[in-house]
Amino acid sequence: MKYVIFLGDGMADEPVARLGGKTPLQVARKPNIDRIAREGRTGMFRTLQPDMATGSAVANLSVMGFDPRQCFQGRGVLEAASMGVDIGEHMAMRCNLICIADDGTIKNHSAGHISSAESDQLLEALRAHLPPTMRLHTGVSYRHLLVAEGLNTALECAPPHDHPGERAADLPIRAKKPEAEESARVLNELTALSQEILRDHPVNRARRAAGKDPGNSIWLWSPGRKPKMWTYAERFGVTGGVISAVDLIFGIGVYAGLEKVEVPGATGLADTNYEGKADACLRVLREKDFCYLHVEAPDEAGHEGNLELKIRTIEDFDRRCIGRVLEGLEAAGEPFVCAVLPDHPTPVEKRIHTREPIPVAIRDPRHPADDVQVYDEVSCRTGALGLFEGDAFIRSFFGKPA
Ligand SMILES: [Zn+2]
Repeated sequence: MKYVIFLGDGMADEPVARLGGKTPLQVARKPNIDRIAREGRTGMFRTLQPDMATGSAVANLSVMGFDPRQCFQGRGVLEAASMGVDIGEHMAMRCNLICIADDGTIKNHSAGHISSAESDQLLEALRAHLPPTMRLHTGVSYRHLLVAEGLNTALECAPPHDHPGERAADLPIRAKKPEAEESARVLNELTALSQEILRDHPVNRARRAAGKDPGNSIWLWSPGRKPKMWTYAERFGVTGGVISAVDLIFGIGVYAGLEKVEVPGATGLADTNYEGKADACLRVLREKDFCYLHVEAPDEAGHEGNLELKIRTIEDFDRRCIGRVLEGLEAAGEPFVCAVLPDHPTPVEKRIHTREPIPVAIRDPRHPADDVQVYDEVSCRTGALGLFEGDAFIRSFFGKPA
């Protein structure tokens, strides 16, 4: 048996007046997704409990069967796994390169979307001043990683994208516990040192001369340690791969023992390479048992508040990605279980993630279909699977109910 999960990030929504009180899923043309509902069983899934954060990392952990309250240890550790960096027993933090304006306020969290190559030169200048207990890893664009030995993670840090226009000096890392005070001091000193070293670095002089924002400070946030997670091989006896454009999703997959499968042209936006993702999924399923196929585009459309775009991303996901995978699997003649769901709603009129239960459809040739004919937030409420919480969805998907 082969297993595939189609995850349309943020795909669920709320009734929209302009759609006559319907949701984007209710009006989108999505014959393949509806077929999974018609031939399968449906239900709802509370992926985010009231006490949980609403980020996609947390919501995807929940879909994949983990308890985010135990597993979510910050972005840094997930991105480390995606980058292939083994942090061992040390702590990891996201290290942005940011732009601080002349008046000391945060101009942007991305140093004007600085290139990876320029970032690496700036970080190299900083590496010469690091204690032997710290390592800086260059990631993509402005998104990098600090790995540190012997530091406490009970730290309150300000995500820089949440604080544009605020004075950087007013947003130091603070200790949440007395035993973390020394760690906060060390990290704040490192940030101050970066500002001295980077201010007149040749890369930044060249960027200023070209009218671009300099990467004139590091910004450390989202600390954590390696999460204790089971792997799909251990828990369900399956091998698998994860397809995404998002490092956080790759990171979860890597800790869960899945192969990270990168697809050229996978952008995380509406222009993503849907066909390439479908073909990569079929390749994964030729060699392995399970594929987690994540598409970010509906979530981005929701954050933009772009209703037409959101409907189009659902239709593209259906036709260019899911339809192509189903066709390929049927041509291969091997029986398969497939599921379709989002990780959380990203309603176009709210433009943020919400915690409402999301619709789920699972098509498993070993189980007869329920009466639900289409996939959306309303019809799946009457499905045979009821309301999933915790790891009930993933157990049901792999045919291992409690
Ligand atoms: Zn999401």
